[in-house]
Amino acid sequence: MFHTCVIELSKSALEKNLAFIRSLIGEKTLMSSVVKGNAYGHGIEQFVPLAERCGIKHFSTFSADEAYRVQQMCRDKARIMIMGEITNDQLEWALENDVEFFVFELDRLKAAVHTARLVGKPATVHLELETGMNRTGLEPEVLEEACNFIAKNQAHVKLGGLCTHFAGAESIANYYRVRKQKIIFRRMSKWIKKKGLQPEHEHIACSAAVVRFPETHLQMVRVGIMQYGFWPSQEVIIEFLRDKPDKINPLTPLISWKSRVMDVKHIPEGEYIGYGTSYLANSNMKIATIPVGYGHGFSRSLSNQGRVLIHGQRVGTVGMVNMNAIMADVTLVEGVEKGDEVVLIGRQGENEITVSSFGDYSDQVNYELLTRLPHDIPRRVVG
Ligand SMILES: *Cc1c(COP(=O)(O)O)cnc(C)c1O
Repeated sequence: MFHTCVIELSKSALEKNLAFIRSLIGEKTLMSSVVKGNAYGHGIEQFVPLAERCGIKHFSTFSADEAYRVQQMCRDKARIMIMGEITNDQLEWALENDVEFFVFELDRLKAAVHTARLVGKPATVHLELETGMNRTGLEPEVLEEACNFIAKNQAHVKLGGLCTHFAGAESIANYYRVRKQKIIFRRMSKWIKKKGLQPEHEHIACSAAVVRFPETHLQMVRVGIMQYGFWPSQEVIIEFLRDKPDKINPLTPLISWKSRVMDVKHIPEGEYIGYGTSYLANSNMKIATIPVGYGHGFSRSLSNQGRVLIHGQRVGTVGMVNMNAIMADVTLVEGVEKGDEVVLIGRQGENEITVSSFGDYSDQVNYELLTRLPHDIPRRVVG
């Protein structure tokens, strides 16, 4: 491996997180593993086979390019569902490969039936209903036409599901908005079934809803962030642990991000370190240079603010974050040498750098920090 850093994914952490999610949703509800955003930065090519080994049989992506990558990696016959973008000219590929997709406007539905006739294979669609998110979703005005069209073309289109997405289930402030969405979904779903259409699965819950609204589990849930070992927000974990006697966080992050010391230097008192004058050595210092910078996803806003682990100790980074390097103050850490392991995210000895602590300094939420980890950092599955 020629890379300057590596991302490790822990299989045992994934098993633990999936067991926790299963304990919430029970045996009967299907779990779709959401792998958009390069599996939340974990790497589709590494995460999908790992998830399959842990029993996942259903994956959700945002777009067709991600679905293609998932499909290339699937060994068992997992189901793949596109929740967002697929263009009409990509539908042929989807149908031929049994890839399912959301429908939130009539054009895609009609194109799906048109393609199904050409390919000689039915399309499996999930009607995404507008319940208040106001992003994508079938409006009530076109619902009747959509249902009639499906009913008329049953040979070419199967109703894989009815679904919707909550506008912020991770925040208590959105309580009324989300409650209204639940009511509207129930009403629309009843109406559709009265018209004689029978969806295979109804699915509306994301991670936050899985924890906070058990009544939304239905036949399937779409879980992203929690399978990777992160809570959707601080509020969700606080609410979850509030009445648990042991207060133990049941989730463990899969991800660790590691590099190695590239050089060690002694800097005399009174010298500036790195570009410009943002860091002045107030005493004689020992500095370790680490070959990871903003070009590798270590945000520039962490200049003089970052934390890394070396020899099991938490040390601060000093000076500006460079494109390819950061400097850590290892003055008080004995025996640091070129080649020693550096942990940017994850555990080393007794200490841990969490994604969220990282995020606090660089003003990014977990979701953002993870998905911005560059795709070309190698990902490696560990036990
Ligand atoms: C991202 C996404 C999810 C998963 O959300 P998490 O909060 O990561 O569980 C579910 N459904 C849709 C439509 C999404 O876009």
